[in-house]
Amino acid sequence: MDGGIVIIGAGHAGSAIAAGLRIEGYEGRVTLLSAEEELPYHRPPLSKTFLKADGDQPLLLRPASFYDANRIDLRLQTSAREIDFRSSRVELMDGHSVPFGRLAIATGARARQIKADAVPLDGIEYLRTAADARRIRSRLLSVDRIVIVGGGFIGLELAATLSEMGVSIALIEMADRLIGRAVAPETSQHLLHWQQSWGVDLLLGEGLSRVVGADGRVVAVETTAGRRIDTQAVIIGIGASPNLDLARRAGIACGDGILVDEFMRAGDNRIVAAGDCVAFAHGARGQAIHVESVQNASDQARTAVKSLLGRQEPYRAVPWFWSDQRDIKLQIAGLAENSDRSIVRGDPAGGKFSVFRYRAAELSAIESINQPADHFVGRKLLAAGITLTSDQVKDLSFDLKTLLER
Ligand SMILES: Cc1cc2nc3c(=O)[nH]c(=O)nc-3n(C[C@H](O)[C@H](O)[C@H](O)COP(=O)(O)OP(=O)(O)OC[C@H]3O[C@@H](n4cnc5c(N)ncnc54)[C@H](O)[C@@H]3O)c2cc1C
Repeated sequence: MDGGIVIIGAGHAGSAIAAGLRIEGYEGRVTLLSAEEELPYHRPPLSKTFLKADGDQPLLLRPASFYDANRIDLRLQTSAREIDFRSSRVELMDGHSVPFGRLAIATGARARQIKADAVPLDGIEYLRTAADARRIRSRLLSVDRIVIVGGGFIGLELAATLSEMGVSIALIEMADRLIGRAVAPETSQHLLHWQQSWGVDLLLGEGLSRVVGADGRVVAVETTAGRRIDTQAVIIGIGASPNLDLARRAGIACGDGILVDEFMRAGDNRIVAAGDCVAFAHGARGQAIHVESVQNASDQARTAVKSLLGRQEPYRAVPWFWSDQRDIKLQIAGLAENSDRSIVRGDPAGGKFSVFRYRAAELSAIESINQPADHFVGRKLLAAGITLTSDQVKDLSFDLKTLLER
């Protein structure tokens, strides 16, 4: 007996670790703890297709039969309360505990909250879980106007979806452009143009000052510019915070996430962590970064599985991400933070283009709008460390793939 493996959190990362252990031939006990009530599901559709769909069930990551068939002891609505290393047990909220030989922490992230007023108001929503999405859906039956706070990925996806469903949307964003930290000005401008064309009332440079309530319900928001917008509901989309409480209480080192090495080990050979709850060293400078994406969760899970089984393979994946806003598919390869130069390939007015972003002379990221071919080649170029000249980027007759053949 090896004591078994307990995985805390059954999102994209935790579920992939459970599945990966069986794929890699692990025969021991696998326990997968989930705080949520439903079978592990895809989170991205929650701000996109799920709001419009007929059914009430989110898209499952794996069919219900998968867990039994693979002897994965999936425990729904079962939150881990403490990790006790002395007894090698995970204490559960329900008073029980599970023993572990090795442990994977995949607790993900939660929606960042605004400072709550003393009296909670009906009509303030966040979006992280299927339960949140269902609540937003049911609210649509009784509201005709919603204010979205935050012009990041989730806010914009919600604005695209809800406006298509006929809801009047006002979106406020504190910064002077959309998704400013993650995308180039050219991409922000393109998204702004399309969101406005869909009738979304976009207010840039205005943050949330206050949610105004009456009789326990939201009736308006006030912005930092002193504007009042009457509304029956507000959705807060101001980012996510990693769930670190459990790890911190267990004495595991955390920064902007659980600090892991390149093998996803969290300070001890018995413990790995993966996904939105993790901060890992990235790039030549080895700076600890925190990434929230399905790719990151899935690829880190693969590395974590190898480590749990004593086969060390470093995590070296090029980060990539996508966002769907109606007919706009934005795909990002690489990390654009600290980029200082952008070169556009294609014609934004035609709705298909990519922005190549550079840090000094080095290609750091590629943002593609409805240009999947650029995205896929871009991932390979970044993985191979190949940098293009600006002439190569701008010349549409130049086939980017030829750079990979050298
Ligand atoms: C609305 C929405 C849209 C998104 N769209 C995209 C997209 O288009 N593209 C993209 O790449 N990414 C997207 N993302 C981000 C992506 O979904 C996340 O990066 C991914 O879900 C991270 O997976 P994870 O397993 O690390 O964490 P999570 O999916 O957050 O899963 C963690 C799980 O652990 C559980 N948990 C936490 N603490 C405990 C505990 N103590 N005990 C037991 N269980 C616990 C949580 O309840 C949760 O179920 C989106 C996210 C949201 C919310």
